[in-house]
Amino acid sequence: MLRERVADDIYIFTSDLYVKVTAGVIFTSQGVVVIDTLLFPQETSEIVDLVRRKSKSGVRYVINTHSHSDHVYGTYLFNGAEVIAHELCRQTLQKCGEEELSEAKEQIPELAEVQLRLPSLTFNEELILRLGDKTLRLLHTPGTTPDSIVVYAREDKVLFAGDTVMPVPYIVDGDRLELMESLRAIAKLSLDNIVQGHGGVLLRGEIKGTLKSSIAYLETIYNRVKEKVEAGAPRDELRRIGIESCGKSRIPLDGLVQDLHQANLEVLYDQLIPGES
Ligand SMILES: [Zn+2]
Repeated sequence: MLRERVADDIYIFTSDLYVKVTAGVIFTSQGVVVIDTLLFPQETSEIVDLVRRKSKSGVRYVINTHSHSDHVYGTYLFNGAEVIAHELCRQTLQKCGEEELSEAKEQIPELAEVQLRLPSLTFNEELILRLGDKTLRLLHTPGTTPDSIVVYAREDKVLFAGDTVMPVPYIVDGDRLELMESLRAIAKLSLDNIVQGHGGVLLRGEIKGTLKSSIAYLETIYNRVKEKVEAGAPRDELRRIGIESCGKSRIPLDGLVQDLHQANLEVLYDQLIPGES
């Protein structure tokens, strides 16, 4: 697992085992905040170990950026912490969490010990958390999922973006227009780093261009799929719309971005064919 330090008190962990999913740790004089966890307990345990070594007070809050299993399943390892998320994240986990977890356990034996933890502190639009000399703004940024939030560490100018910022924007569980709006809101923040939900940390010089190309990508895929639908093309033809022709690289996440891209096209196709919604 990769561990990086993006500011004096801020560490980022990137999984080797599952699609480069990331988690962040912020140390403050009034306790530690963990932002997202990793899918496999053995990897999240490395975060627990770092906190044990570096802080007496332990983890005070775990923030879930959205309800997807790859980000929330390690939450149970932070026993005494209060769990913060969007209200919709709590509702989603309450409704589907146990069932999805038992299915996941059947497929992935390493998850045997995982327990579901529901967020206990939730919000709708914005929550500001002040700890020591840190101000964390939690903002609702729907689009990838309806319950997505980002965490802006104001003094350090670091944004923990969850899956709202990824090497390719992903709309299969969400909404394209909402995601575009959320990305525009992020572009207005003063930022030195963006921690993506999957993949490498974006540095200051890359942020503007990346957000711009993500917004353009969401516009382009819509137009490209619309052309196909209007020409009466069958679903198979979506394969001809390559990710690079929509302005995004095909390399990140070991090439998995191409599958995410294809899934985006298919969901748009289903929305656009006449007679279906
Ligand atoms: Zn994810």
